Amino acid sequence: MYAIRVDQLALQTLADQIAIALRNAQLYQSEQQRRRLAEALERAGRALASNLDLREMPGRVLEQLAAVVPYDRSQLLLRQDEELLLMAWRGFPAGWQGEGGIAIAGHDVYRRIVEEGRPILADVARVSGWAPGDGFAAEDSWLGAPLIAKDRVIGLIGLCRRESAFTPEEVTLASTLAGQAAVALENARLYDETARFGGMMERVVEERVRELHEAIDLLERLDKTKSKFIEVAAHELRTPLTLVKGYGDMLKVYPLAQDPEIQPLIQGIAAGSNRLNEILTSMLDVAKIDSQTLNMRRAPVKLLKVIEPIVSGFRPVLEERRLTLTLRGLDDTPLLMADTALLHKAFWHLIVNAIKYTPDGGAITIRGRVVASSPDESAVEVVVSDTGIGIAPEHQKLIFEKFYQTGEVSLHSSGRTKFKGGGSGLGLSIVRGIVQAHDGKIWVESPGYDEALCPGSHFHVLLPLAFTV
Ligand code: ADP
Repeated sequence: MYAIRVDQLALQTLADQIAIALRNAQLYQSEQQRRRLAEALERAGRALASNLDLREMPGRVLEQLAAVVPYDRSQLLLRQDEELLLMAWRGFPAGWQGEGGIAIAGHDVYRRIVEEGRPILADVARVSGWAPGDGFAAEDSWLGAPLIAKDRVIGLIGLCRRESAFTPEEVTLASTLAGQAAVALENARLYDETARFGGMMERVVEERVRELHEAIDLLERLDKTKSKFIEVAAHELRTPLTLVKGYGDMLKVYPLAQDPEIQPLIQGIAAGSNRLNEILTSMLDVAKIDSQTLNMRRAPVKLLKVIEPIVSGFRPVLEERRLTLTLRGLDDTPLLMADTALLHKAFWHLIVNAIKYTPDGGAITIRGRVVASSPDESAVEVVVSDTGIGIAPEHQKLIFEKFYQTGEVSLHSSGRTKFKGGGSGLGLSIVRGIVQAHDGKIWVESPGYDEALCPGSHFHVLLPLAFTV
């Protein structure tokens, strides 16, 4: 009797130990399983996060899900307004296409998932579109998990399995992966939208650039036509002008020309034809600059020797209009290799403008100095300054274009050196053409236009010293 009790006790202890060992083994196994699943979930999440292709993404989601929750068939549907669109599927027979758009309101299970935003477990027969057949029985397990991004159900994933029902743990896993998938899908959608917008913007910009090129092309062609017209007109007008001038000169030898009443008429013809000749010369200069046929003859030039004679020519006008004209620093500038005749023409136009746009009693100053035009280049800078009406900022670039004049041309007074005297609008474009032909630069600085305050203008001409002798 005692021996039996001892055996019983030993057996009981052994059984208890075996039970503990079994429980430990089970715990270990489920812990291992949990870790494997956690790792699979993490891998799936990483795989999804690294993809941004919206077309590939739904298929990838179903692929990754299979590694976490085994299933026989799956679908991924995305919401578009009040419909769900089938984006990817796995496990369906070859050639299966599914439905186009599924109205959410007309599908009980899908509607609940979208409205409630939580997973639903059901028999496959209850979910329309997944009708049993193909080896599926009506009671086979179906699991639907919502795809939630930014607190909004953007679609759902449906899974079904033949052999065993989905466990609560699998429902959690599927929902977790659906959460990761929703974020990845949303990111891919945003990326796609941005890329499409970028592509669209690129096409718009390309289109605008093409239009701009066409417009520039057209403008260039129009400009060439304009230059051609200027050239033809100047040549054609020159012949009759030569006749007028010639006959005017011939009149002078007749005794009648000494008549004090006739004399001013003959002088008028001469002055008019001289002025016309000046304009025609400017037109031909512009045509030459435009067609780049300025015949440059460079030689050593002293700037003072170019500017002084111009100033001397204007002395009577300067006196008449009580304008002072001062030259500074020009004598100290080095010799330049330049075309004397062209430089003479350029400074003539600048000085005539300074006279024209400065009221009587004003001052004109022409300064010369050597400046560094770039870190390793020097240039002679000549600044023609006046105390005239000034130039508004919006005109300061445009005045160098041919025929560009500010203000009302009809309000200009007649006479080329009178205050606001008339002009052809060609002077500064000739100056710029000549300066650029010498590889130089020209610009104007002026506080603005004001006929009462007369803030003045400063025309800067930069002539590089690379051609210094
Ligand atoms: P224009 O024959 O009309 O003088 P320009 O090409 O020489 O033609 O000058 C273009 C315009 O630039 C002028 O109509 C005038 O409005 C402005 N301008 C030129 N020089 C001056 C200046 N020194 N002061 C004020 N405005 C000037």
